[in-house]
Amino acid sequence: MRTRFAPSPTGYLHVGGARTALFCYLQARHEDGAFILRIEDTDLERSTPESVQAILDGMEWMGLDYDEGPFYQTQRFDRYAEVVQQLLDESRAYHCYCSKERIEAIREEQMKAGLKPRYDGRCRDGAEPVEGVKPVVRFRNPAGGTVVFDDLVRGRITISNDELDDLVIARPDGSPTYNFTVVVDDVDMAISLVIRGDDHINNTPRQINIYKALGADLPEFAHVPMILGDDGARLSKRHGAVSVLQYRDDGYLPQALVNYLVRLGWSHGDQEIFSLEEMIRLFDIRDVNRKASAFNTEKLDWLNQHYMRELPAAEVAEHLRRHFEAEVIEAANGPPLEDLVAVQADRVKTLKEMAAQSRAFYEDFEAFDETAAKKHLRPVTEAPLQAVLAKLEGLDEWNVGQLDGVVRSAAAELDVGMGKIAQPLRVALTGTAISPSIDKTLWLVGRDRSLERIRRAVEFVQARAAALG
Ligand code: GLU
Repeated sequence: MRTRFAPSPTGYLHVGGARTALFCYLQARHEDGAFILRIEDTDLERSTPESVQAILDGMEWMGLDYDEGPFYQTQRFDRYAEVVQQLLDESRAYHCYCSKERIEAIREEQMKAGLKPRYDGRCRDGAEPVEGVKPVVRFRNPAGGTVVFDDLVRGRITISNDELDDLVIARPDGSPTYNFTVVVDDVDMAISLVIRGDDHINNTPRQINIYKALGADLPEFAHVPMILGDDGARLSKRHGAVSVLQYRDDGYLPQALVNYLVRLGWSHGDQEIFSLEEMIRLFDIRDVNRKASAFNTEKLDWLNQHYMRELPAAEVAEHLRRHFEAEVIEAANGPPLEDLVAVQADRVKTLKEMAAQSRAFYEDFEAFDETAAKKHLRPVTEAPLQAVLAKLEGLDEWNVGQLDGVVRSAAAELDVGMGKIAQPLRVALTGTAISPSIDKTLWLVGRDRSLERIRRAVEFVQARAAALG
């Protein structure tokens, strides 16, 4: 079993393409087959190296490793020219000298008559070369009969050959066209299963005729439906991120996106969470739904939280690094990222948020948030802050259990609720009124920084009291 993902590098790797890649990957692994990556970069004007890189990076980030490739179509032009010549020699293709104007005129006439526009076959039975005109090469599509194939997702599809015209396979400059290069490659690469978006379903009968002309075995085909936005329209930028790398940059874990994508059009009972091993074991392209599926960001967020909590903290921490860099926070200047993940995973939706909300554990802050200080660093808080400070100074170990004990015993001694101590402490430690539970906040801020910051808060409170007279 051999399958391939064959993106055109004309933009970022969007979630539709990523899901196709995932389905190819899973099916190959499920059947113990080979997964091949082929970059279809023959459209020289629209293909860019940045886009190739985005595809490679996106696949790597998602963990979709391939067994062969990446192959580049632009490196195979000689091979395409050879096959074009072979088809010409066998009279399965022919030169066509019809001008653009003529083709355009036929097209208009057919449209007016309510017909599907197609080449009328003028050069099919031998055309006189026209001076100064470089011909295109057209594939001689069979006359009459039908093309039938059993799509693994869509079921049986039947198309009459009369609906298919003689496709251009090489342009006047000799460059090959899409439907032709795909077939040559799929034959040369011995692809046995073609999985792709159903926007290609109309190409398949044409391609099948080319397979037959080449005397090649047909692969199986599976055309997967497109992904819609939550409003039912075709998924686009307007619905938020659509590029895989944008999801990475927005703070999603690849495990979350992969788990999310596999459920777009495929299911196994009502199970929502799938490990990669389970996906490989359970996935079958034949079970993919033929109806389009809608993207749902809330569900993706839910999965992201799940994986932030459930994956080993060290693994999550690896992904978190990128966001520390993006937020320009020096991870070496504070608690190990694993410790941070253990505390913050429950509190945020994304790794980006996690980084942004953890700055105080890694850097000193200039000033207390004004509103928070006004509310929580009032003169009455001097005593609780001093009490906690004294106890913390005497601690021999800085762990969550001990820290919790300190705050509790201070509250008990002063006979105040925990909040009366925790909120001033929180502002003292982070500059804001929002942070993880106070024991964990102390733990993450660390001993030296905590003591220093509480002393600073005490001074702040004393100055405030003095100002009030
Ligand atoms: N290169 C085509 C695309 O990106 C896919 C072709 C195929 O999978 O057959 O849409």
